[in-house]
Amino acid sequence: MKAIMNAFTVDLEDWFCVSNMERVFPLSRWGDCQLRVGESSTLILELLKKHGVRATFFALGWIAEHCPDIVRRIYEAGHEIGVHGYGHARLTGLGREEFKDDLARCVESVSRVVPEGTIAGYRAPSFSVTRRSAWALDVIASFGLRYDSSVFPVGGRTDYGWSGAARGINRPLCNLIEVPITPWFGGGYFRLFPYRVSRYIIKKVNKMGLPAVFYIHPWEVDPEQPRVRLPLTKRFRHYVNLDKTLHRLDLLLSEFSFGAIGDVLDENGF
Ligand SMILES: [Zn+2]
Repeated sequence: MKAIMNAFTVDLEDWFCVSNMERVFPLSRWGDCQLRVGESSTLILELLKKHGVRATFFALGWIAEHCPDIVRRIYEAGHEIGVHGYGHARLTGLGREEFKDDLARCVESVSRVVPEGTIAGYRAPSFSVTRRSAWALDVIASFGLRYDSSVFPVGGRTDYGWSGAARGINRPLCNLIEVPITPWFGGGYFRLFPYRVSRYIIKKVNKMGLPAVFYIHPWEVDPEQPRVRLPLTKRFRHYVNLDKTLHRLDLLLSEFSFGAIGDVLDENGF
């Protein structure tokens, strides 16, 4: 039996761009921070190359503007390019027009680096497409993107999650596909839980005949990043097991089949 192709996705941002740091490093201060995304993305790119895997990279507009070479290098290595907003503003704090402006600015910055028509999809900062911000799907579709991959289809969290949302790939609008994140499979969950938990999750999803959607960030393979004083839970969430990520990614990529979201969609007839 042919192995199911799962989606491997990377949110292309640096250590200071994350929502956990937004009080310490608002967008206006990003220019003062040490850029590390080049080196950390290289580690991920090398690993993907080793396993012959094509992935989707959702680039922040700010990163495309300040580190165009990195986005170009990812594109030239054959990976799929998506967008992740301009300055990591969560949709839950934006109105429709503000979101439209943010996405337009992001698409413009990324489009200066890659050929026209390259941008395939969108991922919201911190999975912030929720029941309350469902209007965003319409805006995303208006940019001609093939898909959105922002819904975390489980509730019970204060900062993200859409309880009751479809867990499988679906078509919420006639001109947009939604590729929900596989819950607890990626990012902080991947670092916090032992590897066997992630392994159990992907096996369970694949057993149902469905692809799993994995996500990671370049700063999650960078244990040497500057340490910032954060409230305890945020500090834990950001720094736990950073030194273990790369090895776990290597295991994951050797055990399971992965591709870019676009490839998974093609394979599943979307
Ligand atoms: Zn992000």
